[in-house]
Amino acid sequence: MLPTSDDKTSVRVAVRARPLNSREQANFQHSGLTLTADSQVIINNEKAFTYDYTFDVDSEQEDIFITTTRDLVDGCFDGFNATILAYGQTGSGKTYTMGTGFDISIPRENLGIVPRAVERIFEVMEMKTRDCLDNERDAPLFDVMVQFVELYNDELVDLLDRASRGGQGKRPAKPPRLTEDKFGNVVLADVCVKAVKSQSDILDWLKQGALARTTGSTNMNAQSSRSHAIFTITIKQTIQDSLPGETVSFRTTTAKFHFVDLAGSERLKRTKATGARQKEGISINSGLLALGNVISKLGDKSLKATHIPYRESKLTRLLQDSLGGNSKTVMIACVSPAADDFCETLTTLKYANRAR
Ligand code: ADP
Ligand code: MG
Repeated sequence: MLPTSDDKTSVRVAVRARPLNSREQANFQHSGLTLTADSQVIINNEKAFTYDYTFDVDSEQEDIFITTTRDLVDGCFDGFNATILAYGQTGSGKTYTMGTGFDISIPRENLGIVPRAVERIFEVMEMKTRDCLDNERDAPLFDVMVQFVELYNDELVDLLDRASRGGQGKRPAKPPRLTEDKFGNVVLADVCVKAVKSQSDILDWLKQGALARTTGSTNMNAQSSRSHAIFTITIKQTIQDSLPGETVSFRTTTAKFHFVDLAGSERLKRTKATGARQKEGISINSGLLALGNVISKLGDKSLKATHIPYRESKLTRLLQDSLGGNSKTVMIACVSPAADDFCETLTTLKYANRAR
């Protein structure tokens, strides 16, 4: 039987404000944001927006993981696909929140969502194994796989393939491509899928893939990431579902979890982009626009899932089977509390509000 998810809970939107950095503090950049206990964000004492969750500047990585992600990880073991997206302008804390930076040797309390999700996956596998053995069933078989792709200028780049070939220099034999299987499901073909056995295997691939990402410099942030990075963990489990004494039968469930560190959402004129940078900006913005459209349609209960415009962009096609339907999605909109970033923060709050 296919799992069915409760529509009301399939898309959730969170807002997280990062703390002022030392430069902003030195400039006495007062925060124009107030986050209230009932999940509202008030900007400059005038506009108020409501979200499913809000995380203020002093929120902890662990709380964010527990509130937004842990149930989605557990849901994968019941066959629900999941997607977590980090949205926001460059420097707003997307990579920090997601934990998809290449620096994974940071203090434990600072670890982002992905390493915590990985830990949880292995915890659940252990629990399930113990449970089966306690009930005199065969231990379940788990196959865990990862892939890591980047969408840059509307082209897919296989980060694990690139990492395996030793960096950006060599062109892969075949870039990954989106295609449809005979059931009409969108599938990613020609992508490197790595089987993993341990938490450190996964984190190793995450790190190697992150190092292979395309970064460019704009005058906003030299390390600004101009591409969407999608790290995917697939969990396949084969469980004995017969009771002791019955004929032995097995059930296989597969679920995918996408962790998406989106490209910076800032508008072009702010970054004074020209030429190639501008072209990047255009493809980034059209992907984010399409994503906003899809998420807002999914969240609109009155529409009763009419037409969801997945086909508008590669980003939404790529995530199609894990957005809507029987899957759970959380978007975390990251914002800066600094006065200089007011316009971008307001734009992000509006985008996230529409998505809800
Ligand atoms: P983005 O990926 O959106 O460009 P980053 O995640 O790289 O932004 O964050 C920019 C800087 O702010 C980094 O140095 C990061 O460590 C720091 N930072 C972001 N969010 C937080 C936070 N919640 N607490 C502490 N430092 C943060
Ligand atoms: Mg980043």
